[in-house]
Amino acid sequence: MLLRLSKIIEVPDSALPFEIQLDLHEMQFGGCFPVQEPVAAKGEIKNTAGVLLLEGTLTTVLHGVCDRCAAEFEREVSYPVHCVLTTELENEDEADEWTFLLQDDTADLDEILTTAFVLNMDSKLLCKPDCKGLCFRCGKNLNEGDCDCRPETDPRLAVLGQLLKDK
Ligand SMILES: [Zn+2]
Ligand SMILES: [Zn+2]
Repeated sequence: MLLRLSKIIEVPDSALPFEIQLDLHEMQFGGCFPVQEPVAAKGEIKNTAGVLLLEGTLTTVLHGVCDRCAAEFEREVSYPVHCVLTTELENEDEADEWTFLLQDDTADLDEILTTAFVLNMDSKLLCKPDCKGLCFRCGKNLNEGDCDCRPETDPRLAVLGQLLKDK
């Protein structure tokens, strides 16, 4: 959606709310398509002392296969968005990935919010942020409980044990 900002661009402390849905079901991430459900985007663009800030949240349910424990999962995520919209970049060095250049007075909300969504995604798809993964020895899913594998002995302790035994 294109949002014209002429109403607030010259008016300090004014704001323009937005509420849209993004369709990112074709977005491939790590070999799968985790955004099968619409992404609800809600927030406002406000003129704060002459700077246009876009603030809001992005909410959806991710569907995927966990990179750590290989379980299929559905997980609701809610990402914050804080972007700066600018009509001109005074200094290229100051621009970061959260700064967007406007075409005249128009913000391309789909593009801005899609970028914000991708920037918020973790580099791995996990069923939950603290997924314990699988035991590298027996393959048990450690989210379901500990396995019977003993922890690896510290090789230094093994050497010490050997030295002491030889005496
Ligand atoms: Zn997992
Ligand atoms: Zn194990």
